[in-house]
Amino acid sequence: MSLSFYNTLTRNKEPFHEMKKGEVRIYTCGPTVYNYAHIGNWRSFIFSDLLRRYLKYKGYDVVHVMNLTDVDDKTIRDSKKEGISLKKFTERYTKYFFDDMDALNIERVEYYPKATESINEMIAITKRLLDKGIAYKTEDGIYYDVSKFNGYGKLSKIKFEGLKAGVRVKKDEYEKESANDFALWKAYDKADGDVFWETELGKGRPGWHIECSAMSMKFLGQSFDIHTGGIDLIFPHHENEIAQSEGYSEKPFVKYWLHAEHLLVNGEKMSKSKGNFFILKDVLGKGYSPKAVRYELMATHYRQKLNFTFEALDASENAIKRFREFLIKLKAVKGKEDNPKIDSMIKDAKDEFEAAMDDDLNISGGLAAVFNFMSEINKAEISRKDALKAFNLMMEFDKVLGILEFKDEKVPKEIMDLVKRRDQARKDKDWVLADKLRDAIKDNGYVVDDTAEGSFVKKN
Ligand code: AMP
Ligand code: ZN
Repeated sequence: MSLSFYNTLTRNKEPFHEMKKGEVRIYTCGPTVYNYAHIGNWRSFIFSDLLRRYLKYKGYDVVHVMNLTDVDDKTIRDSKKEGISLKKFTERYTKYFFDDMDALNIERVEYYPKATESINEMIAITKRLLDKGIAYKTEDGIYYDVSKFNGYGKLSKIKFEGLKAGVRVKKDEYEKESANDFALWKAYDKADGDVFWETELGKGRPGWHIECSAMSMKFLGQSFDIHTGGIDLIFPHHENEIAQSEGYSEKPFVKYWLHAEHLLVNGEKMSKSKGNFFILKDVLGKGYSPKAVRYELMATHYRQKLNFTFEALDASENAIKRFREFLIKLKAVKGKEDNPKIDSMIKDAKDEFEAAMDDDLNISGGLAAVFNFMSEINKAEISRKDALKAFNLMMEFDKVLGILEFKDEKVPKEIMDLVKRRDQARKDKDWVLADKLRDAIKDNGYVVDDTAEGSFVKKN
């Protein structure tokens, strides 16, 4: 089977064909940097990471853009509340975002444009929309006239009766499923404080939706392969992105729209406004490992709702332990006799993994392939050489999953306990015990170096 994705635009699973041979261009709506991202946000970013990693595993060159929304209603509101500049305020949360992203082993994408650095592109789009009569000017800003865009509603499938002159909304976020004319450019309002640009459109600032049209087209061109985000962005944000971009370029904006379902708490969407959220620090502070958090947020198919519980996180912690123990076991295999079936076992596991992942990133199937492989190897008699092959396959799977090898991994507590016990044994001059503990540490994949400053432990 070939790679296919469920496309929100057509509400169908479709075979994936890249637009430019061998290359996939992706745009992911990034964070609004006005607070810590919660783990619901992280679920959607881990989904886009999985997508990116799998496309790379399949051999595509990936050009991936994730914007940083560093000017909008929320960033302005909260920086003012704190009495610091918008720049300082958003830089703080941008840094936290990258810290968490690294902790969760999310790969860095190619570009992280900031909205405040693409104002000229937003002005250019707005100007052309004005010239074409698709946008109009009022006292409080420039608005997109949704009745002028034929395809308005094609992503969200909302039927806008008649599409008469719409009601205007200036706010970035609105729920109402009606054809509102939305703000491309917001004329200066004193509530914006010192956040404004003096431009040919007048003094003011951009609306949120135009930011993503400008940044995606700037880095990926007027038509590109994949656009992702959480399902709450389908309307109005992505609907408006299409209207702006296609109104401007008269070309199809995006070929495949992929949307991730929400992370829930007690059946409700995790969200800042409801207050029912956890940030990553909260969860790690309870002693959970970032690997388990990544696993938990990744292991349910991205188009299914996922209810967050600490019991489920415990189970993910166990799954991670199984992986770790399996790798440790492989490293310790000493057998000399090669198993004639090893190559076919590896091929079958790879085929099963790819068949599942090709099917709209069916992660449960993908993980089942990995677990089956582990239990088969556990049952088989294998040689040192076979073990190495199995280990390499696990590392290949991990290029997609990102749960085995973390970049700046801390030494696990169990290992540190062994190191401390060994230090004590050395102090007590109990060399036999000290050597035994050194071996135990080594069997777990770590080595200790004894130096004048004390003993240091690192990965073997
Ligand atoms: P924001 O920083 O609010 O713009 O959101 C960043 C991303 O997180 C967007 O793609 C949202 O759709 C997504 N998101 C927000 N809440 C959740 C949730 N509870 N579960 C999954 N994704 C979410
Ligand atoms: Zn966006």
